[in-house]
Amino acid sequence: MPEGPEIRIAADEVQSVLVRRPTTSVFFAFAHLKKYQKKFKGSRVRRIETRGKAMLTRFDNDLVIYSHNQLYGKWMTSTSGVRPETSRQLRLAIHNSKAAAFLYSASDIEVLKAADVDSHPFLARLGPDLLSQTPTVPALIKRMREKKFRNRQLSGLLLDQEFVAGLGNYLRAEILYFSAIHPTRRPADLDDAEIKRLSGNIIKLTLRSYKTRGVINPPTLVKRLKTQGLTTRAQNRFSVFQREGEPCYRCSDTITRMDSGGRHIFLCPQCQQ
Ligand SMILES: [Zn+2]
Repeated sequence: MPEGPEIRIAADEVQSVLVRRPTTSVFFAFAHLKKYQKKFKGSRVRRIETRGKAMLTRFDNDLVIYSHNQLYGKWMTSTSGVRPETSRQLRLAIHNSKAAAFLYSASDIEVLKAADVDSHPFLARLGPDLLSQTPTVPALIKRMREKKFRNRQLSGLLLDQEFVAGLGNYLRAEILYFSAIHPTRRPADLDDAEIKRLSGNIIKLTLRSYKTRGVINPPTLVKRLKTQGLTTRAQNRFSVFQREGEPCYRCSDTITRMDSGGRHIFLCPQCQQ
């Protein structure tokens, strides 16, 4: 399941082929959206924002294409005139003179006016997107102390897209490990230093994963692990995620696995008491 960093990377790719060039045509597969096709001709894509797993393609004609990939949607790009090879159902295509972007299989596509984006029923419920809206550490601290969030176990809270949009299973485990906080604790249980550290790591590790395409461990640790023979990305990217039974890089205790809401969470019992 892609998490915020993977979704932002996909958005970057689509954005890079669409921005600045005038749109030559837009295709919608769904009948109720066909009426919008001609409205996009000649307009330019300003930027593509991510909101959790939703994408907002913003045009300079004040219209926004909202798309949600659910589990199956997939964006592909190509140079002009070339259709990507896939057996998937095409749902949306945006063409310009040089390139095109295609959205396959997604069923949740809408055209919104820019002014209506914030009141969209799905988007209005989401917390700030960590890579498109980039909340600050003080803003996250404040959010964690809000009544509706402060008494929830962090194991569940960090995956709740209403708290922040973009965290999934691997980021949750690694953020709690690097913050030295046990997953069953709640924001209300944390002291000021812990809540600050946790908020900082939510931002820092998500950004690092985006920049490194999924490597959470800091560069110095990755370097050390490589000298110990852990040379592949799969071997050295995480400190706890999917490392059950292996030694903690910090204290050498054994990484364990807990089940939380049907999903596994990995932790170091010594570092995260
Ligand atoms: Zn440890």
